[in-house]
Amino acid sequence: MPLMTSSEYIESLRKQKKRIFLAGELIDNYVDHPIIRPSINACAMTYELSHQPEYEELLTTTSSLTGKRINRFTHLHQSTDDLVKKVKMQRLLGQRTGCCFQRCVGFDGFNAVDSVTFEMDQELGTEYNKRFREYLKYVQENDLVVDGAMTDTKGNRRLAPSDQEDPDQFVHVVERKKDGIVVRGAKAHQTGAINSHEILVMPTQTMREQDKDYAVSFAVPADAQGILYIYGRQSCDTRRLEEGDVDVGNAMFGGQEALIVFSDVFVPRERVFMCGEYKYSGALVERFAGYHRQSYGGCKSGVGDVLIGAAQAVMKMQGLEKASHIKEKLVEMIHLNETIYSCGIACSAEGKPTTSGTYLIDLMLANICKLNVTRFPYEISRLAQDIAGGLLVTLPSEKDFAHPEAGPLLEKYFRSASSYSTEDRSRIQRLIENLTLGMGAVGYLTESMHGAGSPQAQKIMIGRLANLDYKEQIARELAGVKKGN
Ligand code: SF4
Ligand code: FE
Repeated sequence: MPLMTSSEYIESLRKQKKRIFLAGELIDNYVDHPIIRPSINACAMTYELSHQPEYEELLTTTSSLTGKRINRFTHLHQSTDDLVKKVKMQRLLGQRTGCCFQRCVGFDGFNAVDSVTFEMDQELGTEYNKRFREYLKYVQENDLVVDGAMTDTKGNRRLAPSDQEDPDQFVHVVERKKDGIVVRGAKAHQTGAINSHEILVMPTQTMREQDKDYAVSFAVPADAQGILYIYGRQSCDTRRLEEGDVDVGNAMFGGQEALIVFSDVFVPRERVFMCGEYKYSGALVERFAGYHRQSYGGCKSGVGDVLIGAAQAVMKMQGLEKASHIKEKLVEMIHLNETIYSCGIACSAEGKPTTSGTYLIDLMLANICKLNVTRFPYEISRLAQDIAGGLLVTLPSEKDFAHPEAGPLLEKYFRSASSYSTEDRSRIQRLIENLTLGMGAVGYLTESMHGAGSPQAQKIMIGRLANLDYKEQIARELAGVKKGN
């Protein structure tokens, strides 16, 4: 079944027996849990749209491995056109969900692991790429969601993995067996982990020789023996436990992050893609991060579209269509949002094939994209809050609106432009609250800051890739300044 439907996806999750802690309890039925379900709905949209003829070209493609029609989220990019379509698909999904739809981390992991393992095989005579491609065929054939797990807990940041007081602060190999390896450690902030069928683990940073047990990449089923999830809290998450659908702001969709703990998990040999080859860990991190920095050019601009639309709706609901300063703010928001998107498209259009044939984005432009993403959504949010006004944080609850005494008073005093109901006005305010202060702000703001690496990580890459000496040389030539001065 190369293309699962959204309901088949949701049903497939029910078959997995995952151990998940949420708010101090082990959860039995996570698929229907009111805090978790919106994040499953968001990921399910990657299946839903793949069956809609108008989005077929963006959401599906032909597998380079099997020649079959597959969901694009399981594809190895074969051209710059594939890279561009990826960003367009992500913008569309951001628009349709208003949140992080989670499936990109595995997608970015596939493309990074493919080219790096290919180079390892060529240079070391290993067979990691062969194994990886067999694994990816399985993922494509079954249309699976795979969590790309990179970020370790890292302990004391001053110390390398093998120098840590607690050796488990980075995922590492604790035993080598004839038929596989045993791993231990944890991956933090894992987007969509619980909604995934599989976990693809990669090292979190460049490793040295003494850290070679930490230079490990592998894939395991998400419910493999020894794996435990601890669900991350989001601002205002318990609103999802209340009755009604106004106060949550985005009732249908949401993002998800969790800590994944690996307590002596066995990984069969055919699912190990790096084991000790520390020299390749840096390239894997750099490429995965590069792809995910490209991804943000799509998903964050899509969510930005929702926020800009909400700001325009507020403007109309408040009777301010003619206020030129608000129109100006909307244009400013659009400018920032389209700049993010432009960077996503630019790094894709400038992509090049790697030796495996899989296309890699232009790393400099992908880093510029992500550095902009660490800033612009904050400014877009500031402008949206400016337009929304104080009601954004003083609006009474949905229950007050339903109360026989308080409700009519709220209807009377929060009425604005007569063509819009007070409830619609509340709904739009709550959506802006969700995106800039609530559950949605996890994905739209803090994830924009730290996801795919914090700003400093992009600045280091930009400094490295900039070729400053060339810039100095052309300036010297034009100014007539001799070499060596
Ligand atoms: Fe995809 Fe964006 Fe979520 Fe990353 S943050 S998984 S790119 S939607
Ligand atoms: Fe992310």
